[in-house]
Amino acid sequence: MKSSIPIFYTRSELLTGIEKCSRSKKIHIGFVPTMGALHEGHLSLVRTAFNESDIVVVSIFVNPTQFNSDQDLEKYPRQMEKDLEYLETLNQNDILVFAPTVAEMYPEGTATLPNYNLGKLDSVMEGAYRPGHFQGVATIVHRLLELVQPRKAFFGEKDYQQLAVIKHMSKSLRLPVEIVGLPTIRESDGLAMSSRNALLLPEYRKAAPRMYEALNHIANNFSLHRAEELMQEAISIIETPDNLLKLEYLEIADAEKLQKPISENQKIRVFIAVWANNVRLIDNIPLN
Ligand code: AMP
Repeated sequence: MKSSIPIFYTRSELLTGIEKCSRSKKIHIGFVPTMGALHEGHLSLVRTAFNESDIVVVSIFVNPTQFNSDQDLEKYPRQMEKDLEYLETLNQNDILVFAPTVAEMYPEGTATLPNYNLGKLDSVMEGAYRPGHFQGVATIVHRLLELVQPRKAFFGEKDYQQLAVIKHMSKSLRLPVEIVGLPTIRESDGLAMSSRNALLLPEYRKAAPRMYEALNHIANNFSLHRAEELMQEAISIIETPDNLLKLEYLEIADAEKLQKPISENQKIRVFIAVWANNVRLIDNIPLN
């Protein structure tokens, strides 16, 4: 089945497409940036975007500058036809898909990037384990926001640190856009939906919900003075004799600056990154 959703491959095509939709009226554009291999988590962002905008631009672009290894970039799932069919199930007319090439987004090449001030947000957790990752994220999101000029852009709390980084960048550059964060959508066994889940071999897929179990163990019993003890108990949920899951980090941090919390009056979250064989999974939930 051929999709009827318009798909644009260049920046100028996309601008013409948006112009056609707006017919010179002032319209509110909602924007959902993705790397494709769409699942219900992405669709929930698009649905909310439609509730709050006249038209919605969904970008599908596997951004090379946010990957730390060529192998990870290569094996990242790509399925454009399926993605378009999936978006079609929303039955929305005013949806525009932007699927640029790497050269379109990086005409100068990807070897050197601009340097964004991301506060200290990119020095902890994902930032510490994936050097340069958030500079790549900031670069592509900034370029896409400048192109699409949305009133609101929608991001998932599944990648909470990314959401914090983008809010920080948008504020510091005074971009005229509202950055909206939306809750994580999960499989019925609790595993956070992710395009990478498709890469999990069955035994690892079966073990992966232990991440959510470990996070919930901390959340259900949380008080700041018990944090260390609860973390140890959570680690023993992840690292069992079957050796299927290898913990990269488990951290409790305040929800704004992502630093060690000092008081329960702060909003606090717990964050986890795990290797399931050669697939890296992340998750986080609020603690208060
Ligand atoms: P990605 O395609 O993985 O780069 O994700 C694109 C957007 O979808 C990001 O804002 C993610 O945070 C969001 N997202 C990914 N997985 C989920 C999920 N399970 N629930 C909600 N949002 C998600």
